[in-house]
Amino acid sequence: MSKYVIVGACAAGIGAVEAIREIDADGEITVVSEEQCSHYSRPMISDFVSGKANLEKMKTRDDQFWQKNNVTLVCKKAVGLNLSEHAVTLEDGTNVSYEKLLLATGGKPFVPKMEGQEKEGVYTFTNISDAEQLAQKINAGANRAVVIGAGLIGISVTDALTKRGVKVTMVELQDKILSLLLDATASEIVEAAVRKAGVNIITGQSVQKILGKPDNENQVGSVVLTKGGQVPCDMVIVAIGVIPRTELVAGTEVKTNRGIVVDGSMQTSVPNVYASGDVAEAYDFILNQNRQLPLWPLAVLEGRVAGYNMAGKKADYAGGTNMSSLKYFGIPIVSIGLANPKPDAALEILVNQDAENTVYKKLVLKDNVLVGMTFLGAIERAGILFYLMKNKINVQAFKDALLKDDFGLAALPESVRTQMNLE
Ligand SMILES: Cc1cc2nc3c(=O)[nH]c(=O)nc-3n(C[C@H](O)[C@H](O)[C@H](O)COP(=O)(O)OP(=O)(O)OC[C@H]3O[C@@H](n4cnc5c(N)ncnc54)[C@H](O)[C@@H]3O)c2cc1C
Repeated sequence: MSKYVIVGACAAGIGAVEAIREIDADGEITVVSEEQCSHYSRPMISDFVSGKANLEKMKTRDDQFWQKNNVTLVCKKAVGLNLSEHAVTLEDGTNVSYEKLLLATGGKPFVPKMEGQEKEGVYTFTNISDAEQLAQKINAGANRAVVIGAGLIGISVTDALTKRGVKVTMVELQDKILSLLLDATASEIVEAAVRKAGVNIITGQSVQKILGKPDNENQVGSVVLTKGGQVPCDMVIVAIGVIPRTELVAGTEVKTNRGIVVDGSMQTSVPNVYASGDVAEAYDFILNQNRQLPLWPLAVLEGRVAGYNMAGKKADYAGGTNMSSLKYFGIPIVSIGLANPKPDAALEILVNQDAENTVYKKLVLKDNVLVGMTFLGAIERAGILFYLMKNKINVQAFKDALLKDDFGLAALPESVRTQMNLE
């Protein structure tokens, strides 16, 4: 029996191993991973496709990480979980039994049923294998792509494909791109930059079916849109969204909503079984509720909290919130918390936008406390504002300074600077 078993060896799994080893130097740890190498930055797979990074450059830990931490790494898929026997079954039929289990299985791409989706040239975009296949296809001469979905993953793959000289059409069901992160104004600024880079953007519809090439029915040749138009292409990348990989707990007592339900120690409804990262629904301190927040730094933190608790040190997850920091098509963007709320009289919105549309800053406040922000073009001060948000600091006395071009630490009252340990 292994004292600790962790399924999934990426952000959350690594966070857990490091936390366990801080507390328990010797307890046996077995990590189960279906990917041969999973200690790489998933957000960097677009850099792999564009040619900016190779796998070596993407690694978040060195190859000796597992060995150095005295971890038995088993590169196999876990296919079953027996809670009463305390055992995980692997694809080869062997069982790994545990005292404490962490499910850090992440998410999987959501692919809706679509006629023609089995054709050669249809990809998803969530792991290094997807990136390798896409890069190979481009190397083999493919130069027209349809990307379905204009969210975070859709825009990251579009940026990479464009850098490789591929002509991309993005098809988005919503009426604007990055609709979960940005309001209409911010989305329009980004859309203009994306179009300027030569991308064709089609909003308000999706792909109905994928057709083959006239000379080879099995290879992607075009897509038919829901409103009837046709777009010729060699590749289709489905980037609609990611859903939690809860299959191991399906039919068990482990409680799930969309993801696995956890408490503040990242323990599930079953004692000694923990979940962290994209597979879990952890606490959002802005919405004051648990929900799925598929973000790298949160996965690491949640994994660490689980690891501490598994090893016997009490730790509580302080919570995270929607916080994206990206730079695609040359525009730095930060979007945190309630960045794009529905109209609500209880919310105060402050905006600063320059005439050239290169800088857009927006703050959302509730009772003089920051609950959301968007920064486009100039993101340097977002860190200070996030501190104010996270610590629920009342900004009434210095609200007018927050969006000024010269806003900085000096604009904060002494009491806040003291709290930030700056005095
Ligand atoms: C293209 C892209 C861009 C992104 N950009 C950003 C960004 O800019 N900022 C940001 O914060 N986040 C970003 N993310 C999200 C971020 O990568 C995830 O939040 C993070 O990887 C979650 O970590 P995790 O450990 O929970 O799960 P994952 O990274 O998904 O790792 C889970 C691991 O478990 C393995 N696994 C699953 N089931 C089993 C099983 N049954 N048996 C064995 N192994 C299994 C999987 O193969 C995988 O290796 C991006 C993601 C993608 C795909």
